[in-house]
Amino acid sequence: MPVQRTLSIIKPDAVAKNVIGDIIRRFEENGLAVVAAKMTRLTPEEAGRFYAVHRGKPFYEDLCRYMSSGPILVMVLEGKNAIALNRKLMGATDPKKAEPGTIRADHGESIEANAVHGSDSEENAAKEIAFFFGEVEIHSRNAA
Ligand code: GDP
Repeated sequence: MPVQRTLSIIKPDAVAKNVIGDIIRRFEENGLAVVAAKMTRLTPEEAGRFYAVHRGKPFYEDLCRYMSSGPILVMVLEGKNAIALNRKLMGATDPKKAEPGTIRADHGESIEANAVHGSDSEENAAKEIAFFFGEVEIHSRNAA
């Protein structure tokens, strides 16, 4: 299994619920390391650029409003198979359909306010990481 990096965001609803620690604990207990992290608040315009792939969808405007509604914690996670592993720990987009024990099942409020974001492919992970972090801000645990 390849060591990968993926972008994780703890979204405004989960930050507001004060469950940052519980979410990071799940990553660490499952072999993912936080190699970059910062708290920030997106403007609606920045949220729109981040979610540009959803432009035109019925929920796009609401999504941009929601993602800019409060602070978020943005992280780079590193580990074996990090992209798929993070998606598995997150659970399905709709918390009502997410498997029990997943982050979204436990902490998501709705299909929109669903606690976490995780990159869905290597290509998107690279783009999303570069959206938030420069290479000097990422501290690999696998460096020689
Ligand atoms: P993800 O990869 O599981 O996050 O799902 P998507 O890439 O399909 O959607 C991105 C984000 O848009 C989701 O995490 C939700 O916050 C939001 N979203 C997705 N589908 C819907 C929807 O049908 N309605 C609303 N209001 N928001 C949605």
